[in-house]
Amino acid sequence: MATNKKQGNWQKRTLAVRAGQLRSPFQETCEPLFFTAGYAYENAEEGEARFKGERPGYQYSRISNPTVTMFEQRMAALEGAPVARATTTGMAAVSAVFMAGLKNGDHVVAANALFGSCRYVLENVMSRFGVETTFIDGSAIENWQAAMRPNTRMLFLESPSNPTLTVFDLKAISAIADKAGARLVVDSAMASPAIQRPMDFGAHIVVHSTTKWTDGQGRALGGMILCRQDFLDENLNLFLRNTGPIISPFNAWLHLKSLETLDLRMKQHCENAAKVADFLATQKKVKKVLYPFRPDHPQHNLARAQMSGGGGIVTFEVEGGKNAAFKLANALGLIDVSNNFGDAKSLITHPETTTHQKLTPEMRAEQGVTSELLRLSVGLEDVGDLCEDLEQALKVA
Ligand SMILES: *Cc1c(COP(=O)(O)O)cnc(C)c1O
Repeated sequence: MATNKKQGNWQKRTLAVRAGQLRSPFQETCEPLFFTAGYAYENAEEGEARFKGERPGYQYSRISNPTVTMFEQRMAALEGAPVARATTTGMAAVSAVFMAGLKNGDHVVAANALFGSCRYVLENVMSRFGVETTFIDGSAIENWQAAMRPNTRMLFLESPSNPTLTVFDLKAISAIADKAGARLVVDSAMASPAIQRPMDFGAHIVVHSTTKWTDGQGRALGGMILCRQDFLDENLNLFLRNTGPIISPFNAWLHLKSLETLDLRMKQHCENAAKVADFLATQKKVKKVLYPFRPDHPQHNLARAQMSGGGGIVTFEVEGGKNAAFKLANALGLIDVSNNFGDAKSLITHPETTTHQKLTPEMRAEQGVTSELLRLSVGLEDVGDLCEDLEQALKVA
């Protein structure tokens, strides 16, 4: 295997197309899909040397695979991360970071604005292993500092958060983690590396659901952990190779190839979403619009400082509660009702009854997930068609 050219001082678009490519002796232009579980050794001595870590090379695809390596290296280049490991799903990435990085007696501080499954893992799984989590309103910096304990080992947040698009001050929160010798873990799934690089602001670990914007076409599940070398060596590597949440080569190949167009797609998603947000804000039946790059977003300045685009998600509230929200969703003729996001197709979600259904009413209230809240993942369709669809559905609601 040969690496493709020297990775020089390339810009984002070049890295997205070129970073991490490995070429076989056939010199193929398109990254190959290595669909293999195992690898043959030249001789028994070679097998021994690879298992001892004395010689480089692949051993078994639960440990690593060339297609997966290419995906990891390209993602690391885009995030500005030292190292990366790909997983089966975003939740496998999140769970592995907690399981590998925490032990009995450790404490976590997490923003309460969390994706339902992330909250479940902390509250219902990690607690069984003696890891306690304090959930806070993370939009006020002093709340992070106040929740710190001598045994706090991780700080966890999603920025922007799902579904209410709260943006957190990564620089200030990572400084709190640094002072305590803890790690800030950022779930950046809602943004994607095209518009946000949390490590530039001091985050120690970044996790992604590559199912979302990276795939971008709603085809395959995947996740990614990006971190520094010490966390990989001391915590993650042995955990992953022995517990097995590694991504399938096929899904890794899809997401690797998707990275080539991520920046172009996100640019269009952001442009469409900004227009849809502005359109919704003019509608009488819309009570509130949340979009990070609109001046009326609570953390607008912070969003502009941390992100290079407002993202593809617009969250809004309609007048008339759950009934109106359901009527609106049901009246849409172009936009699909779904719980996913990050697709070329526009998708609308009612978080209270789907993604955030398992939370208690109190938890939903903390996060601002109301009955009339809808999360719209703005796709790549013509933005005029999208606004027309929303306009006619708002009439019905
Ligand atoms: C979707 C999502 C996840 C989970 O990712 P999967 O690939 O579905 O497992 C985690 N965090 C956030 C913020 C998400 O949106």
